[in-house]
Amino acid sequence: MKLHTLNTGYFKLDGGAMFGVVPKQLWQRTNPADDNNLCTWAMRSLLIEDGDRLILVDTGIGNKQDDKFFSHYHLHGTDSLDGNLKALGFQRSDITDVFLTHMHFDHVGGAVERTEQGLRPAFSQATYWTNERHWTWATEPNAREKASFLAENILPLQESGQLAFIDAPEGQQRISTPLGFDAFVVNGHTDAQMCPILDYRGEQVVFMADLLPSVGHIPLPYVMGYDTRPLVTLGEKKAILTEAAQAGYRLFLEHDPENETCTLELTEKGPRLAHTRPLND
Ligand SMILES: [Zn+2]
Repeated sequence: MKLHTLNTGYFKLDGGAMFGVVPKQLWQRTNPADDNNLCTWAMRSLLIEDGDRLILVDTGIGNKQDDKFFSHYHLHGTDSLDGNLKALGFQRSDITDVFLTHMHFDHVGGAVERTEQGLRPAFSQATYWTNERHWTWATEPNAREKASFLAENILPLQESGQLAFIDAPEGQQRISTPLGFDAFVVNGHTDAQMCPILDYRGEQVVFMADLLPSVGHIPLPYVMGYDTRPLVTLGEKKAILTEAAQAGYRLFLEHDPENETCTLELTEKGPRLAHTRPLND
C-alpha cells in the first residue's frame, strides 16, 4: 500500500466557530486570525494506492458553487485536486473508489462536477462510499447543518448509481470496510462520520477528518462550534486520542494549515502533541 497526501486547497473559516467555547486568547496561539477573525485551513485529502484500487478519501470543496458562495470561504493558494492528482501521475478516471468521511461541503464538494449536461460524479469510474445513517442524516438535514449539506454535492451520487453504503451499525466505534481497512465511526461532529485507519509502513495512520481538524484541537475541550453534539465529541476524542497516544498512531490532519500528520503523548493534562511531520517524510 502506498499513501499520498493530496491537498485540494486552502480556505478560511471563523476562528471562533472552529474552536467553540475556547477563548480567542488561547486558540490564536496556534491559529492566528486575520482582521475578520478568519483562520486559514487546509482541505487535505488522502490518496490510497492498494493493489488494483486507487482510493480517494474526501474531495475538498470542488469548484461548482457560485462566486457568492466561494466569497464566504476565501479560497487561496495554488493547490487543487486536479493539479495535485496530476502531479502524482494520476487522472480522475483512475480513481476506483471515493471514501467520504461525511458530506459537509468542504469534504464532498469535489465529488460532483457541473457540466453542460448537468451535475454528475466527478470520478466517472469510482464507487462512492458513505453509510446509510450518514446518508439519511445528510439528505434530511437539520436546520443547523442544512447550510453544510448541499443537495448538489450529494444527490447526483445516488442518481448516478455509483453510491454504495458501508455497514456502520449504531453503537460500534470501530468497523471494517469493504475497502481493506477499518474505520472509526463517530457521532459528535455529525451523524456517523467515518475515519479510516490504515496500516502503513509499520504504523497505524488514522484519517481524523473533523474529529481532530488540526493540532490546535488536541486538548479535549477544544471542540468545534460546528459540532452537533459537543459532549459526544468530547467522549470520542477522549477515547480515540488516548488510544492514539498509547498505541502511537499517526494522525492525518485534513484541515491543519501546516501539519500533515502528528503523533500524541499522554500527559497529566490529557493527550498532547508529541511530533508532527509530513506523511511521507
Ligand atoms: Zn464537517
